[in-house]
Amino acid sequence: MSTDRLVIAIDGPSGSGKSSTARGVAKALGLAYLDTGAMYRAATCAYLDAGVDPSDVDGVIRATTGADIRVSTDPDRQEVVVNGVDVTTRIREPEISAKVSAVSTVAECRANLVARQRAIIDAAPAGIVAEGRDITTVVAPDADVRLLLTADPQARMARRKAELGDKVDAAALADQVLRRDSDDSLLVNFTTAADGVTHLDGTFLTLQQVIDAVLGLISDARG
Ligand code: C5P
Repeated sequence: MSTDRLVIAIDGPSGSGKSSTARGVAKALGLAYLDTGAMYRAATCAYLDAGVDPSDVDGVIRATTGADIRVSTDPDRQEVVVNGVDVTTRIREPEISAKVSAVSTVAECRANLVARQRAIIDAAPAGIVAEGRDITTVVAPDADVRLLLTADPQARMARRKAELGDKVDAAALADQVLRRDSDDSLLVNFTTAADGVTHLDGTFLTLQQVIDAVLGLISDARG
């Protein structure tokens, strides 16, 4: 493992707690943080704002690959700007969650976002904790520590409900978690750990316990 920079890759399905875990680990170690899901969500804003229908694959590719997407890598400050417009709050809206698959299931869109993500990871001076669905396998397979964080579907739906509150009914919640899982698994495998990836089931663990487990893995890897 390199001594000067640290790259930590965390994958997992929706509601597994990977974002809170990744942010907590980044803060604890003074590293940058990359939420790749926010980039897929930002790309979704780009095609919607261009007036492109989700079923228009060529239009989605054009609008997303040409978009200017900026994401903060400060674990204490979430900020996402698309084509000069701040979409930090909007990307969490149920409409974006419902329409993001039009980006994430298209190979050309993925390749473009993966290239941008690698550039962000390479530019982080002290290193970075990056999280998503394909970080351990595609974006940063050479990361110093690679983790797959899962949790039972019921636990994941309960977490999403706690985050979204009254904004969603049961059907929208199932759409946000279960339907998205099945769409997301079309092009990426994030339910079984690839070779060299540690699998952690967080169903019965607190956030702090998961963060501590990841910090333990990092300290083991550092020797
Ligand atoms: O992590 P989050 O739920 O915010 O991600 C939003 C969507 O972005 C996912 O449902 C998935 O379709 C897509 N995504 C992806 N690959 C990643 C991160 C997110 O396909 N590395």
